[in-house]
Amino acid sequence: MRNHEKTLEIFKDRLREQGIRITHQRLEILREVVRSKGHPSIAEVFHAVRQRIPPLSLDTVYRTMKKLSEMGLIHPVGYSSDGIRYDADGTPHHHFLCAVCGEAYDFRCPDLDTVPVPEEAMALGEVTGSRMEIRGICRKCLEERREKKGEQ
Ligand SMILES: [Zn+2]
Ligand SMILES: [Zn+2]
Repeated sequence: MRNHEKTLEIFKDRLREQGIRITHQRLEILREVVRSKGHPSIAEVFHAVRQRIPPLSLDTVYRTMKKLSEMGLIHPVGYSSDGIRYDADGTPHHHFLCAVCGEAYDFRCPDLDTVPVPEEAMALGEVTGSRMEIRGICRKCLEERREKKGEQ
């Protein structure tokens, strides 16, 4: 079984446990989020799934993804012009967030995975995980800037 199919089965089990009916629309939303390699926004998932099942509302996508996020199956990460991006990859990894295009790039660093959660953070609520967030301007945007400067 491919990795994203396994994840999809886990998501379905968790929804069933919560008594949430898995409709065709919800299943297609789940599939899209899970198989997306990047960190899709709600709007991106909506546009992709609508190609396959036209009578889909943005609200359904919004509510489904919000539910998944509340259940801890997907995780909000960074922002793009069309809203929060979500991550369906639950394996330990960290993010480089680009301030220009809003893209979230994954990177892996086992040393960071073992950093304990600070007590100050624990005091704020129930901790379900932790991730390092590096901010900056990505290579692609730096390239574009350089090209623009060259044109002037
Ligand atoms: Zn960028
Ligand atoms: Zn990620």
